[in-house]
Amino acid sequence: MQNEAAALMVFKAATLFDKGEECGVEANSAKYLAAEAGYEACQTAVMSMGGMGYAQEYHVERYLREVLIPRIAPVSPHQIMNFIAEKVLELPRSY
Ligand SMILES: Cc1cc2nc3c(=O)[nH]c(=O)nc-3n(C[C@H](O)[C@H](O)[C@H](O)COP(=O)(O)OP(=O)(O)OC[C@H]3O[C@@H](n4cnc5c(N)ncnc54)[C@H](O)[C@@H]3O)c2cc1C
Repeated sequence: MQNEAAALMVFKAATLFDKGEECGVEANSAKYLAAEAGYEACQTAVMSMGGMGYAQEYHVERYLREVLIPRIAPVSPHQIMNFIAEKVLELPRSY
């Protein structure tokens, strides 16, 4: 469900971009949802395999480490939440 939600938001942002329309909120939301869904999937994979999920001989421990990149860069999830708070919820800029 999380993967599907992320994919739908990616398509929504891409569609707006292709039409030349404003897509900052959707693009940030897509980046956030996709990164969090990827992280959840990798964490589930490690936990599903138990100790072997943690062992270096299997790829899932690397997936879990590498999936942190789309969470951290180019902007962190907290900075995306700051953006959504300001642009969607019209809250004052917090930093
Ligand atoms: C492998 C890798 C490749 C990279 N490649 C590039 C690249 O090619 N070009 C480039 O320009 N950069 C690159 N970066 C840098 C990347 O964009 C930054 O690491 C990222 O934007 C996070 O910034 P930071 O490291 O300064 O962390 P910080 O901004 O110091 O964040 C640390 C923590 O504080 C939180 N935080 C920070 N500010 C706020 C706030 N105002 N409110 C709430 N929470 C906050 C963050 O969410 C995070 O949890 C790369 C990083 C990595 C790990």
